[in-house]
Amino acid sequence: MKDASLAIDVGATKVAVGLVARDGQVLSRIDISSKAPSLQALNDSLAGAISEICQRDGVKIIGAGIGSAGPIDKDLGTINPVNIPHWVDFSLVDFVRTVSGIKDVRIIGDASALAYAEFILGAGRGATNLMGIVVSTGIGGGVVLNGAFHVGRTGNAGLIGHSVVVQNGAQCACGQRGCVEAYSSGTNMAKEFGADNFEAVAEAARKGDAKAIATIDNGAAILAVGLLNAVALMDLDTIVVGGGVMSADDVYWPILHKHFEKEMKKLNLPGNVALKKATLGKDSGLVGAGLVGFISSAKGA
Ligand SMILES: [Zn+2]
Repeated sequence: MKDASLAIDVGATKVAVGLVARDGQVLSRIDISSKAPSLQALNDSLAGAISEICQRDGVKIIGAGIGSAGPIDKDLGTINPVNIPHWVDFSLVDFVRTVSGIKDVRIIGDASALAYAEFILGAGRGATNLMGIVVSTGIGGGVVLNGAFHVGRTGNAGLIGHSVVVQNGAQCACGQRGCVEAYSSGTNMAKEFGADNFEAVAEAARKGDAKAIATIDNGAAILAVGLLNAVALMDLDTIVVGGGVMSADDVYWPILHKHFEKEMKKLNLPGNVALKKATLGKDSGLVGAGLVGFISSAKGA
């Protein structure tokens, strides 16, 4: 009998439900659409997927973890996904507990799930003080401090996308001005360039388009300032970068790396802070959620 954790990864357009083993292996997975016509339809679809996943033979399910776009409330178990209006302030934790019969259900931010998965199994292995960030539609982050997963008071530690780096700067979707995300997310870089998505900006940059290169350069420069602040506050040794923008890492990575090194020189701390590419790919959110299902409550998750 293999130990497994029920993992749920709430994304913008779909919800992945799976079983994850202690070694991070995804034993089974079902994706459902989050674009249901009503709360009832969405919940019925999720309940069906959970029941099917939990029926797998030969595994002992010992916990459950949910990763979701933030902000989350780890005590109430609620999520506030911008793209799934039915679930605003919905206690997904209570729902999963009821449907699955698993008592030990934990919720974390989706970027925290990536950070934790990379820390345990990916590019962050061996790190002690790590931040994992997701650069995608938005920008999220998750934190490991002194070798332990750190989620903070409400479960939202590492919210680097909404740290303010430009006073009275660009309007951010969150209501503040000058957030890292307002300049550096894939969506906002695309908007700045006048394209529908970041891939189009990257493609133009590949062809040498000066405006595309300048847009990516500016987004990466601002993100590097956010990372400088994170390193200054937490004395990190490793930063792992994942998310949709990294699918154009041939264009994006050298630019981000250049700005990061420049900022780190200013900070002048002893030794190097490693900037690494996430290695777990698209499964990292699901794997991270699953791994969190295994953590004892003593670790604060
Ligand atoms: Zn913001």
